[in-house]
Parts: sequence; structure tokens; C-alpha cells
Amino acid sequence: MRPVIIGSGMGGLTIGLILKKNNLNPIIFEKNNHYGGSFWSYKVKRYQVDTGLHMLTRGSTGELPVLMKKYISKNIFKGNFVDQKAYEFHLRNKHDNLPGNLKEILNFRILEKEDRKAFVKMLLHFLRITRKGTNFKGSTYDHVKKYIKSKDMLYFLNSLSWMCNGCSIKEGSLSRFVDMFIRQRELSLGYIMKHLSRTRGFEEDWYPKGGLKKVPELFVNQGLDVKTKSKVSKIVIKNNEVKGVKIGNKVYKTDLVIHDGLVKDLKKMTNNKIKIKTPKYDEYKAITIWLGFKKKVANWKRVSKLRIQESLDAPHWGAFVTDFDRSLAPKNHQLFGMSSILHKNKREMIKEMKQSIEILIPEYEKYLDMEHIQIVRAEKTLQKKNNNIFTLPEQKTNIKGLYIVGTDTKGWGNGGTLCADSANRCWNFIRKDYKYKK
Ligand SMILES: Cc1cc2nc3c(=O)[nH]c(=O)nc-3n(C[C@H](O)[C@H](O)[C@H](O)COP(=O)(O)OP(=O)(O)OC[C@H]3O[C@@H](n4cnc5c(N)ncnc54)[C@H](O)[C@@H]3O)c2cc1C
Repeated sequence: MRPVIIGSGMGGLTIGLILKKNNLNPIIFEKNNHYGGSFWSYKVKRYQVDTGLHMLTRGSTGELPVLMKKYISKNIFKGNFVDQKAYEFHLRNKHDNLPGNLKEILNFRILEKEDRKAFVKMLLHFLRITRKGTNFKGSTYDHVKKYIKSKDMLYFLNSLSWMCNGCSIKEGSLSRFVDMFIRQRELSLGYIMKHLSRTRGFEEDWYPKGGLKKVPELFVNQGLDVKTKSKVSKIVIKNNEVKGVKIGNKVYKTDLVIHDGLVKDLKKMTNNKIKIKTPKYDEYKAITIWLGFKKKVANWKRVSKLRIQESLDAPHWGAFVTDFDRSLAPKNHQLFGMSSILHKNKREMIKEMKQSIEILIPEYEKYLDMEHIQIVRAEKTLQKKNNNIFTLPEQKTNIKGLYIVGTDTKGWGNGGTLCADSANRCWNFIRKDYKYKK
């Protein structure tokens, strides 16, 4: 029988690709009329916009790129992705690139000298606690407050918290914050030395040529069988074993199901047979202002810019996606996106984000050709201090043949990286349970 994957987000597609390359020909059922979940793009006028401003993070070491290199092509980045040069952070009248090594941290113009030293001490503290295997209880702020001696340091660290956790430093989980700087499984002395002496930013971010939807396309082009407009309403279980899935009136027989929808939906889909700790769901939406310009209004040279707020509010992150792929807008036009987390009144957020755009691109309104406001779910759930990698559910469930993947399951990283990590974990369980060879 063919394994069934419910949902074709990056969680479903990554486990789908692993199964396919291990000769287990899966079938993927997707309720929407397109695959990719949040990794998707669509047309607005003659512009192609993405589902939020997106970059593929951790080009060399992240789980998603590593998985693509292993199963699609070693040279996947060549011709398919374009690198982002830097994140330029702005705070009042100060701006500088996000530092990627010790020298850059010690010269980082957003922070005063004492704060830069405290930043290095904080990173050393992270190295110590990850080596000791701390339980990461409490918020990021609880752990780093002793390094915060000025408001600018607080605002800077808070903006990093929003970037990785989707919430403020006082709410966000420490595990993800630490993971942003230090990869758990690479904590060798060699790695640390390499990390501290690197010349590029601490993250290598890449944009897919062809827009965000290019990423799921690369997966599906490997021969993945995705049936769109196919909502799975029930998972058929007998004697605690998976027997099939129900789509409309039909039952598709299978003994292996991997679910990439919301974990909380599983209670209903299994008639309460699943015994799983449901994650705490927080409403977590991203707001993006997409702007099309009828002429070239700025040359950011593949640098994206982030405005830090002088409060605990979310920063505003903007980039010209046409810097990475000119074909996303009509000839000689530019396509710009600015994203943030929707954490207050929508009108107020739009007003504030537009003020940021005006500062970064003066008189931008003169050249406007298209404006599109987009509000989407960013991840399935936020990782907060009490809802993090240590409390999210494992990929294996109590029902034989039922597994889960995606961003409300256990794993390191966020977004696409977390999806791929959850798929790797899921495959490890399946391999053991079914005694598949590597
Ligand atoms: C503004 C914004 C910026 C982001 N930036 C980044 C970034 O820079 N880098 C990054 O890596 N990530 C980023 N992300 C996050 C990333 O897009 C998501 O975390 C990730 O795509 C989620 O994948 P998923 O598979 O967990 O869930 P989803 O994408 O939600 O996929 C789940 C799929 O399952 C389907 N489904 C659910 N229930 C059923 C059912 N019963 N039957 C059939 N199908 C079903 C859904 O239709 C959906 O297609 C960003 C997100 C946003 C919104």
C-alpha cells in the first residue's frame, strides 16, 4: 500500500521527498487548489508576489538546503537560488549590517561599545548552556536580561526575537533564540572557530529564482504525486492501527499516514483516538505590504533592510524581490515587500509600516503602480516560553502507522528549516518502526 501524506506544505513535501527517494512511492492529498502551503506565490496585476517576504535560511547547514542537496541535486543552489548580501539593521539614524563574526560584532554601529562586549558575552553564555544541555525554561528575556544595560540593546535583541520567534523577547522561547546563533549538533571547537571568523552574515539567506513557489516546484518535479482539492476528513483506524483515509465519500486504503495539517485537527480526524499533547495555539499572522513601482526607485543590491522599533514592537523587514529575480515584475519595474508580525490593530500597523517604507525609500508613493496588503498565518504556532521544542509533540503518535510533521511539531529552526527537521525526525521513526534500510 502507498503511504499517504495529508497536506503539501513544506512539512508534507519534505517527508514526501524522503519517502519517494527511499522507494516508498507516497501519495499526497492537499485540500487547496495548489501545493506548497505557505510556500506559494501568485499574481497581482503583472507582479508575482509571495506568501510573505521569504528567504531560504541557512544555505549551507540548514536542514532544508541539506535535504535538497541530498535528494534533489548537490548543485541545487546553482541557477535556482540567489544569495542575499546582508541584513541592514536601522535604529533611529544609525544603521549597519547584522554582524556575522567577532570582528563585525565588535564594530557593530547599532550598539555602543559596552553593549557590543555584552553581546559577545551573551553568545559565549549560549555556547556554555548548549554544551551543558540546559532545559531552556523561561523567556529569552529572563535569560539575557543581565546582558541588557541600555534601551538600544533591548530593542536590538527584541527585534531578533521577533525575527526568530514571531513574538517579543519577553514572550519568546530561548531555544529558538539560541538556535539562531548556535546550531546544537555542530558544537565542536572547529565549528565555533569557523563561525566566529566567517566573513559573511551568520545566516546565509537565499531567494528562489522564479519566486517562492519555485521551492515546492523543485520538490514536486522529483515525481511527487500530489492530488490537490482533496481534503482528508477522517483517518480510518482499527485496533489502534491506521487502515486508510477518507476523502469525500471514498476511503483510500493505507497503513502509513503522515499528517502535515494542524496537530489540533487530529482529535476530530481520528475520532479522539489520538493521545497527543496538543500544542498551545497562538494566533500568529504576518502582514506584508507588497508594492510595485513603475520605475527603479532604489538600488539595494540584494540587501534587505530592517527597522528596529524603539519599543517591544515587531521590526519591519523590507526587500526588493526584483533584486533577486527581475522577471517577477514588468520590465524596468520593481517589486518590493515589507513584512512584520500583525500584533496590533491592522490600520495602525499599515500606517507604521508605511512610515518605515517612507524612511527607507523617500517619496515612494510617487512611483506606485501596485499596492497589495496580505495577511497570512506565518507558522502553525508560535514558539513561546512554554510552547517550544521541548514541549511540542514528537513525530510518532500512539496510533500505529500515524506520524506528524510541520511547524507545530518538535524540531530545531523555524519555517522551512523546521519543516525539514521535523521530516528527518519523522523518517527516523518510520525507518526504525518498519525496519527500512537507509
Ligand atoms: C510572512 C512570512 C514570512 C516567512 N518567512 C520565512 C522565511 O524567511 N524562511 C522560512 O523558512 N520560513 C518562513 N516563513 C514560514 C514558512 O512559510 C512556514 O512555516 C512553512 O511553510 C509551514 O509549513 P507547514 O508544512 O508546517 O505548514 P503549511 O504551509 O500550513 O502546510 C500545511 C498544508 O496542509 C494542508 N492541509 C491541512 N489540513 C489538510 C487536510 N485535512 N487535508 C488535506 N490537506 C490539508 C494545507 O492546505 C496546507 O497546504 C514565513 C511565513 C510567513 C507567513
